[in-house]
Amino acid sequence: MPADSTMVTEIFSSIQGEGIFTGCRQIFIRFWGCNLNCRYCDTRTGKAPVHCRIETEPGTGNFCLLPNPLTAAEVALRAGELNPSGHQTISLTGGEPLLHTSFLSRLIPLLPPARQGIYLETNGTLPEELARIIDGIDIIAMDIKLPGTAGITPCWREHEAFLALALAKKKKVMVKIIIADYSADREIEQAVELLSRYKDIPVVLQPVSSSRGIPQLAPGRALAIQARALEKLIDVRVIPQTHKYLHLL
Ligand code: SF4
Repeated sequence: MPADSTMVTEIFSSIQGEGIFTGCRQIFIRFWGCNLNCRYCDTRTGKAPVHCRIETEPGTGNFCLLPNPLTAAEVALRAGELNPSGHQTISLTGGEPLLHTSFLSRLIPLLPPARQGIYLETNGTLPEELARIIDGIDIIAMDIKLPGTAGITPCWREHEAFLALALAKKKKVMVKIIIADYSADREIEQAVELLSRYKDIPVVLQPVSSSRGIPQLAPGRALAIQARALEKLIDVRVIPQTHKYLHLL
């Protein structure tokens, strides 16, 4: 693959379906590949996509295909054709976008301005990669992964370093924790304990959802987890994935 190019899954305009920016209009640049393998993942992270799907007019669902890999100039051009000034942010998402930091350091200066800047959607486990591009990012939406819920090796130290860097750089930060009926209380408590050092960060508890957006978590359990988190944190919200209700990407 040429040094100035990378694998991009899709570029399109839609509303953010997760976290405290739910409902905000964003241009999404979705990068291929992830360093984790969460059991509830709903993103295609398997075989590298031969083509990148690119929406040709914002919000129409009409796509053309461009062969992968794409250069930074191509990605910036295609994002620019989706009317960035009419969007709240440009979202760098995945997969895990921080697997593409060399590419991102070229892309970010080329991206046209959106109203609130550049929004990084990340699993929050790659602090060294974040350090390479953080100056170009305005908003960081990071996960704290509950290892037993995701079915992965614990990432507590990585999350801690990631969060500390994001806050040291005075970025707007929000945290998402995916929870399920089978989430262990001790894992939830460990996540809350970590976040309690930074009490005023907005924290979203996101129930695992089916492909049609139906939360796979009893409402009473969601409220109980929220109540416990609110004993130590200031801003804790329960928000399911909303884009699935509207059948949006
Ligand atoms: S971090 Fe996100 S994209 Fe990566 S495997 Fe987990 S859910 Fe999927």
